[in-house]
Amino acid sequence: MLNDFYTIEVAMSNGLIPESYHNLFKKYTKCPEIKCGSDIIINTNRTVMKCSNPNCIRILSGRVLKIYNSFGIMDFGPQSAYDYINIHNIHDVPGALVDCPKAIEENIVNWFNSYHTPGEVLEMLAIPGIGTKAHKIMNNINNFTEFNNAIDNVGTNHVLYECGLRGKLPDKYWELMLQFHETGGEWERFKNFLLKFSTTGVIPFNNYDEFFNEIKRAGLYQLCMIQLGGDGTDGMERAETMSCYWNEIQVISGMVKCYPNKIETRKIIITGDITKVTREDGLPFDRLEFINYINSISSTYGVRYQNSTAFNSSEFIIADYPSNTRKYHMGLEKGNLVNSEEFLNIIRKRAQENE
Ligand SMILES: [Zn+2]
Repeated sequence: MLNDFYTIEVAMSNGLIPESYHNLFKKYTKCPEIKCGSDIIINTNRTVMKCSNPNCIRILSGRVLKIYNSFGIMDFGPQSAYDYINIHNIHDVPGALVDCPKAIEENIVNWFNSYHTPGEVLEMLAIPGIGTKAHKIMNNINNFTEFNNAIDNVGTNHVLYECGLRGKLPDKYWELMLQFHETGGEWERFKNFLLKFSTTGVIPFNNYDEFFNEIKRAGLYQLCMIQLGGDGTDGMERAETMSCYWNEIQVISGMVKCYPNKIETRKIIITGDITKVTREDGLPFDRLEFINYINSISSTYGVRYQNSTAFNSSEFIIADYPSNTRKYHMGLEKGNLVNSEEFLNIIRKRAQENE
């Protein structure tokens, strides 16, 4: 069963909160936050009581604290997170990332310039109740386009099934209908088209927006239930939460680059500065930038590189000029010494071969 939430007022009237406790709960009907004041809600298990507003500043400050901490900010607690978003007029997580404290700005920029799995991205958003389950929800999904497609697929199936249409609408026709939608087709024509295939004769939607919103909603439910397994309760609850933060997920997913899920991590050793190749703007690469650039190419064939100091397990040792370092000598000895330009060419060639 879905763990439903009720407002305190409803919970008092339907007996979820017993009569003898009413006095105690009466002062907790609305969020005490001045900037919010939304209804406080309680779940049927009576284990969670929270503000019903997913963007409530109290909920947001908890998330922002978690995110800033994960980017390595020091001396930042619940109160400073609250004060920070209050003073900076921050309303959501994307805003908190753009308008972040100076101390972690570089780390956040690096994060956006690096590659992540979709699960890592979803976990980073610190959506209440998602946590490390993010990896399971995104299991076998390689990027956010795939995520959206997966939602559309299971959602479409589910909605058509509910309309008595599953298996009766050929894929090709369905595709045509999507194109029809994209070109701003008329709902009545589309509805009549669907009704021809329907066994129940009932299309419970009034317009396209309702119809496609339902596909998204049902798709998110179905996908979470499939990915998280169990009896589905877990999936339903998490899908419900995620749908509250749907816009945020879309905004961030449009800003990050994703690794394929089954990425192989390999090691390289870089010694000295990168001088044989430069960034597109002509400025020199630092090591992290160079590795990120390499990974933007190698990830297309499922490999990412990490800078390492482990001689035995590193694929290449990269040096743009001779030096007396141990790394350089080990490279000469092992025969895997290349300069940055040679390394880049190897990676480009491998990427081409995999096209
Ligand atoms: Zn609130």
